[in-house]
Amino acid sequence: MEIKRLPKIELHCHLDGSVRPETLFELSKKEGLDLGVETVEEFRKLVEAPQDCKSLDEYLEKFDIANKVMQTKENITRITYELMEDVAADNVKYIEIRFAPLLHINKGLTFEEIVESVISGIKRGEEEFGIHGNLILSCMRTMPVEACFEVVEKGAKYLGKGVVAVDLCSSERAGFPEVFKAPINLAKKLGYRITIHAGETGIGENVLKSIELLDAERIGHGVYSKDCPEAYKLLKEKNVVLEVCPTSNVQTKAVVSYEEHPMKEYFEDGIKVTINTDNMTVSNTDLNKEYEILEDMNIFNEDDYKQMYMYGVEASFATEEVKEKLRSYIY
Ligand SMILES: [Zn+2]
Repeated sequence: MEIKRLPKIELHCHLDGSVRPETLFELSKKEGLDLGVETVEEFRKLVEAPQDCKSLDEYLEKFDIANKVMQTKENITRITYELMEDVAADNVKYIEIRFAPLLHINKGLTFEEIVESVISGIKRGEEEFGIHGNLILSCMRTMPVEACFEVVEKGAKYLGKGVVAVDLCSSERAGFPEVFKAPINLAKKLGYRITIHAGETGIGENVLKSIELLDAERIGHGVYSKDCPEAYKLLKEKNVVLEVCPTSNVQTKAVVSYEEHPMKEYFEDGIKVTINTDNMTVSNTDLNKEYEILEDMNIFNEDDYKQMYMYGVEASFATEEVKEKLRSYIY
């Protein structure tokens, strides 16, 4: 199939992991970061995770430089706008961008300035590139629960104005859903949609608890769902959608290879699998590459592709009007 030509939906993309390398290199020089590299090629090694990356935690170190330069309104808006431009060129018709606002307060920006800078980049991208975008506010599990409350409470005024959902991300430990139950339940009450990173690094039970305690409608990764029979059953019963990110899962050692990834097994068993990039720069990928790899390895064919596109449309946090438009692209 001609993948590049097909319309695409991206539901799981981290802004700070998807900064155009040339821009990141330029901005790191402008911000005076001494990185000891002279060319973009050398620079890429600092911001891209190697295929033989050892763990999720090593993978997460690759975000440092992006977070250092994403401390001004101009830089944040530019980076968001360029991401919209890049994915639109790949024929992505709808993207949900996620980021953790509290990583961008180091040089004095307020929460509002940070979130508005991203929304402004998304809106400009929508106007210029014929693509739709929404924003997911991520709460870092490495931060205290109070920080998650802060994101949920301060972000609520942007619901319906660019922000659609909350997410919990970063390093995954057993039992995190219990810890973050109160702020995520509050988010639900305030009208946020819920997606949670869970079952990425070996703990299937986190998937179960994310659905039961946090009301997750979508699960980021969910690779290990099958290790917890109750989680697996609940995914099917409640039609919870998996945001699978194949290359990222290989890099973080969630799976040993693309072939060993359980996504096909899940898909064939009726679980709603969608394919996403996670981090276009850190994983040196884009949606075309992800689908090309899966097609080359005979993991998915064109009919599967169309089915996953429709899963993506239905699971998106877009308005019904936008969904209607997205459905029309595949026929
Ligand atoms: Zn992620």
